[in-house]
Amino acid sequence: MEHFDLISIGSGSSGRKIAVGLKRAGWKTAIIEADVDHHFGGTCINTGCIPTKAIVEAAHNTHNFKDAKELKDKIVKRIHDGTLRNAREKVGTVVINGFAKFVDEHTLEVNGEQYSADKIVIATGSEPAIPPIKGLKEVNYKTSKHTLDLDNLPEHMLIIGGGRIGLEFGQAFNTLGVKVTIFEGLPHILPGEDEEVADAIRDHLQNEGITIFTGKFVDEVRESKENGKTKFTVILNDGPNKGEYHGDYLLVATGRVPRTRDLNLDAAGVKTEKRAIVVNKYMQTSQPHIFAVGDVTGNPMFTNWAAWQAGVVLNNLKKSKEPSDLWEPLQKPNIPRLTFTRPELGSTGLTEKQAKEKYGEEKVVVVRFYNKWLGKSMIVGDWTGFLKGIGLKGSNEILGVHLWGVRTASLVQMVILAMDNGMGWKELANMVYGHPILAEGIESLSKMMLGKVFSQ
Ligand SMILES: Cc1cc2nc3c(=O)[nH]c(=O)nc-3n(C[C@H](O)[C@H](O)[C@H](O)COP(=O)(O)OP(=O)(O)OC[C@H]3O[C@@H](n4cnc5c(N)ncnc54)[C@H](O)[C@@H]3O)c2cc1C
Repeated sequence: MEHFDLISIGSGSSGRKIAVGLKRAGWKTAIIEADVDHHFGGTCINTGCIPTKAIVEAAHNTHNFKDAKELKDKIVKRIHDGTLRNAREKVGTVVINGFAKFVDEHTLEVNGEQYSADKIVIATGSEPAIPPIKGLKEVNYKTSKHTLDLDNLPEHMLIIGGGRIGLEFGQAFNTLGVKVTIFEGLPHILPGEDEEVADAIRDHLQNEGITIFTGKFVDEVRESKENGKTKFTVILNDGPNKGEYHGDYLLVATGRVPRTRDLNLDAAGVKTEKRAIVVNKYMQTSQPHIFAVGDVTGNPMFTNWAAWQAGVVLNNLKKSKEPSDLWEPLQKPNIPRLTFTRPELGSTGLTEKQAKEKYGEEKVVVVRFYNKWLGKSMIVGDWTGFLKGIGLKGSNEILGVHLWGVRTASLVQMVILAMDNGMGWKELANMVYGHPILAEGIESLSKMMLGKVFSQ
């Protein structure tokens, strides 16, 4: 049985970072990946962030499904191959192809072979959450992964779930000429985001021709054949949109759950709660030599948050192999929340509702800067949307921003830099901005906010 200093189960943004980083530091490390040929590098590269954003971008630029798919496949292959080459050939991490299960707390089994390690990292990511809707299990529904591999465009795509993934796919396919209907059970799309902004995005998508129903969870789903063609029916039993809705493609995009199934965690004594692996502030599980990082530890599920968690484990193990005073705990900075619709939403911190619940209605200040007031928005040809800032009366503190507009996913980063480093609206307002640039929107938003928070 081959023995390693450390094995990562999973090759995604989190596990790979630790295994590759420690190999560079002289450890003998391995990465076990269930599907090296098609999924090395994990969800983000192969079936998540990169291909979805490539499809969204290409759909809008080319309006042609074949071109969009070709571009997506080219980008994914390039990143997949480069990532594998880097980990295996350049750095020398051992890459093992197959699904890993625990045999005991130091041993894993893959395709009948056993491997042992001093330290093990569980970085198995997440999988689609499938809601308990009547009939859903019996029909041939699709997830985001299948949808990326579609060969032919459907006529009418029914999407259950109005979160990021549902909206990004919905808008891209609508742009490609597919009729799209989205069903969101909660009162607003983009659950967790600022409600005013989410409603504005809903209106924008509806103006583009997408049908969106909110406030009613789907009751039942059926599949039938009509003239040899598959037909799906989504049923809402009551409410203002009560009715039966028909389409030829059913995408379920109702969030994701940690992928802990079939790992045989009991054999290793690793504890879970609601399927997520329980970890302490050093990302150690209930077994101190077994770490868990990324989506498998639960929400939020974002690539760079997964990599951030991995950085904690990597840096600590580089300092000392066993827990010591040198180890530093996971810090929870402000996390960007990005939605890649057109235009996109970049947000961080509190929503207006959360801020008012926390500080009281009268203390919270809200400002909105409309992109149509900005020269650069006109130059780039899209002045949809607005930048929304949430502040506190008499305070320089940034409580949250919700930036909906062209390329705002990058703009949110400068606000996070300020928030993470004890700066606020004053610092964002008091610098010389280049001109004409989209970041001038942040300058204006900050100045508007200063005018309001410090006014009597
Ligand atoms: C459609 C979609 C779009 C997304 N878009 C974005 C985005 O725009 N921005 C963003 O930040 N995040 C996005 N995400 C989320 C992001 O992909 C994840 O947060 C990130 O990939 C998590 O990294 P990870 O290392 O935890 O797991 P993963 O990247 O999922 O890696 C886990 C790996 O482990 C392997 N594996 C699982 N079980 C086993 C086992 N037992 N044995 C061996 N191998 C195993 C899997 O095959 C997989 O390759 C998106 C996700 C999806 C699905």
